[in-house]
Amino acid sequence: MTQPFLPFTRPSIDEATIAAVADVLRSGWITSGPKVQAFEAALSAHCGGRPVRAFNSGTATLEVALRLAGVGPGDEVITTPLTWVATANVILEVGAKPVLVDVDPVTRNIDLSRIEAAITPATKAIIPVDLAGLPVDRDALYAIANRHKLRVVEDAAQSFGASWNGKLIGTIGDFVSFSFHANKNFTTSEGGALVLPADIDPALCERLRLQGVQRFPDGSMDVDVLGGKWNLTDIAAAIGLGQLPHVADFTARRRELARRYFSELPADRGLGLPLADFANSNWHMFQVTLPATAERGALIAAMKERGIGIGVHYPALHLFSLYRGLGFREGDFPVAERIGRQIVTLPLFPAMLDSDVSRVCAALAQVLPECI
Ligand SMILES: *Cc1c(COP(=O)(O)O)cnc(C)c1O
Repeated sequence: MTQPFLPFTRPSIDEATIAAVADVLRSGWITSGPKVQAFEAALSAHCGGRPVRAFNSGTATLEVALRLAGVGPGDEVITTPLTWVATANVILEVGAKPVLVDVDPVTRNIDLSRIEAAITPATKAIIPVDLAGLPVDRDALYAIANRHKLRVVEDAAQSFGASWNGKLIGTIGDFVSFSFHANKNFTTSEGGALVLPADIDPALCERLRLQGVQRFPDGSMDVDVLGGKWNLTDIAAAIGLGQLPHVADFTARRRELARRYFSELPADRGLGLPLADFANSNWHMFQVTLPATAERGALIAAMKERGIGIGVHYPALHLFSLYRGLGFREGDFPVAERIGRQIVTLPLFPAMLDSDVSRVCAALAQVLPECI
């Protein structure tokens, strides 16, 4: 009586979306075209009418935001060590220096009370990350940014559909960067989008997205900036257009499942729970930290034997070889290091059943004592 494997995440794609993708494939135009334009308009409506441009990844979106913010060699950008490494890699890509600030043990997001101590005359921008879909406190964040005249590039890769005090992420703030990677709450298989602040020219954003090319009505063209190859396809945009009507339901269902985890997780096993926020967070992930004595690898293997997928998001990035090579060391950010060593991501996705949560919690209660 083996049950089907329960992955830690799975996208929900409906039949109408599959048909819409097939229509694009049959249309004769499969790269950036009318679907991307329609997708950008729909995203802009979702973001309160702000200009939005679509990209082929959240990483490209972050990099272009830094370029538009004027960040380059000699500049410093403040971010968190507890994130997908893309957040810091893009700072290196534009030739700037990543300055890391340890995380808050409760939110697991950048510790806002430590940001000001990391600001120097070279600091140009902050990249806050909404880990697991829990938004960084936008009021406190922008108070700091405004006080020090810093740009903000919100890495909202994980917080599409989340809100800050009743306002959807994307409707407020400076640059807001989304990822539509397959594992995110809202997907185009691969993709991303950048919400632009009012002082940035969307046409420049478009040139940076595609080789810096500017086309004129008479058919001639010019290249005045160095752009990348970061345009979204109509195939991907059709998936996004099919996902958008479901976002509110996805978020509501994730919140329900997260509540269920809180009520069913074994209380006496030393698990560190996430902040119980059911108003702002979109519950992109449900993450717990294991007791310090637990063997994470053994637990992952034992859960897999029981047909349950467990993820790791993320080891503290300053301990990766590339970043150690830049001078970062063990002990630099003890809170992020501890969480990064002990964190696991439990299955959570909209199509999951309530009984799946029970199954995960029962398996954890069995497996945990064996892994300590
Ligand atoms: C997924 C993710 C990215 C990168 O997005 P891609 O679409 O994979 O390039 C950046 N930052 C965070 C926090 C992410 O989760």
